Amino acid sequence: MTRALVIVDMIEDFVREGGALYCGPSMARILPIVAGEVARARAAGEPVVHLTDAHLPGDAEFAMFPPHAIAGTPGAAIVPELIPAAGEVVVRKRRYSGFFGTDLDITLRELRVDTIRLVGDCTNICILYTAADARNLGYAVEVVADGVTSFDLEAHRFALRELERTLGARIVLPA
Ligand code: ZN
Repeated sequence: MTRALVIVDMIEDFVREGGALYCGPSMARILPIVAGEVARARAAGEPVVHLTDAHLPGDAEFAMFPPHAIAGTPGAAIVPELIPAAGEVVVRKRRYSGFFGTDLDITLRELRVDTIRLVGDCTNICILYTAADARNLGYAVEVVADGVTSFDLEAHRFALRELERTLGARIVLPA
């Protein structure tokens, strides 16, 4: 098994209170867990991939959500606690799934990755749809239970159940 840690949307607009699409106080709870996962992965030599929302002004997603994570603005920046180390891949996305319209799949294949371990937000949106595409493409998926969250905790719980029972993801504890 070759596993990559995939960090989803730990950017200023979602993580910080006052951000354009702040996901709520549970973000502060997952941040140290995500940071711990990053430290673990780096120590283990496991690839670390940062997925970040990076929208165009007027992106189609803004029909459903307030404008957020406009590429090149401070809100689209990865939070300082999780700044990518040299050599770590950053994949910018415009849709929920990190695989849609990006080079995430070929990046993972070039790293010989067959398993992705997801942390970040939101469980019921970008985590869920990234996991669904990963499963369709044949990757095994792990989701760190306390390393993902949402602004909608009911949807968070629903998504964890879907991830496990429908998509066959393993819900795991932080290492
Ligand atoms: Zn977005």
